[in-house]
Amino acid sequence: MKTLKVETGRPYDIIIEKGIIENCGEYIKKVSKAFKVAVISDTNVFPIYGEKVISSCKAAGFETCCFTFEAGEHSKNLSTVSKMYDFLAENHLTRKDLIVALGGGVTGDMAGFAAASYLRGIDFVQIPTSLLSQVDSSVGGKTGVDISAGKNLVGAFWQPVLVLIDSSTLSTLPRYYVEDGMAEVIKYGCIKDKALFEKLENKNAMDVIDDIIYNCVSIKRDVVSRDERDTGERVLLNFGHTMGHALEKLNNFSTLSHGQGVAIGMVMLTKSAEKAGLTQSGTAERIEKLCKKYNLPTYSDLPKKDIANAASTDKKTSGKSVELVLLKEIGESYTKKTELSEFEKFISV
Ligand code: MG
Repeated sequence: MKTLKVETGRPYDIIIEKGIIENCGEYIKKVSKAFKVAVISDTNVFPIYGEKVISSCKAAGFETCCFTFEAGEHSKNLSTVSKMYDFLAENHLTRKDLIVALGGGVTGDMAGFAAASYLRGIDFVQIPTSLLSQVDSSVGGKTGVDISAGKNLVGAFWQPVLVLIDSSTLSTLPRYYVEDGMAEVIKYGCIKDKALFEKLENKNAMDVIDDIIYNCVSIKRDVVSRDERDTGERVLLNFGHTMGHALEKLNNFSTLSHGQGVAIGMVMLTKSAEKAGLTQSGTAERIEKLCKKYNLPTYSDLPKKDIANAASTDKKTSGKSVELVLLKEIGESYTKKTELSEFEKFISV
């Protein structure tokens, strides 16, 4: 078992252990005086793990209730959250009670937002079941939903009281979803951890997945502890994301996954940065090779003009400029403020 402490305003632990879902109730008991636990999950994950979580919570002495919603990004909206509020109220959850978010990023973001806002905030525990949510979205306290103007535009910073990561859940995921998460894993190596990058090059990630999750989560933990509200260093976590989000948007968030967009973004941006003399040469090729190893795409032939336009409406873009995250070399990242008018030129080289 590996434990990481997150020193945000309200500190909490992240525990990584295969099979921990079966005993989640015990761990929740240590951090909560709740009478009732509401398990929130989706129609893919609940049938596999829902009963395990509920019986473990019952064994630990909690009363339980469960809410499931239709799996998929299309459910991540205020109408689903509104149904959650009604459910929580009907089940008489009080401020002392607790929500368990059981599932991938959509579930964590949305159940976290319900926890942040119901009764002006109740405790919640993250049990992420996808690689992307285990290495990324379950840590850091960003919660929220999509609105028609864009993804994650309504939400709150709200830290969980505990994160339980059980990598054995990855074996029930279609390969595609594991690969999707690998893009974020590669990103952590690129921005902060050369040794992690080399581990991914030299080994099969799934053989050492608990170590890898630990590496990623500790990087994110360190960054988030220093910049909980996303006003400084946290921007480094967006490496590959400005282009990635733009590509996701241009594909209407359907044919390209988040990880695929990020992979293409990391490679294409680093190629341009190398040409501009801003990144050590040979870096893009290594990232490209690694992405290909994990079946991730590395190139988009969409017009650069369209990519730049889509990037200009990203919520990470402030005013007329964008804070590009670049690599000095593998494992070392920095930011460079770039005028939006220059961005198209930059990525066209
Ligand atoms: Mg991401």
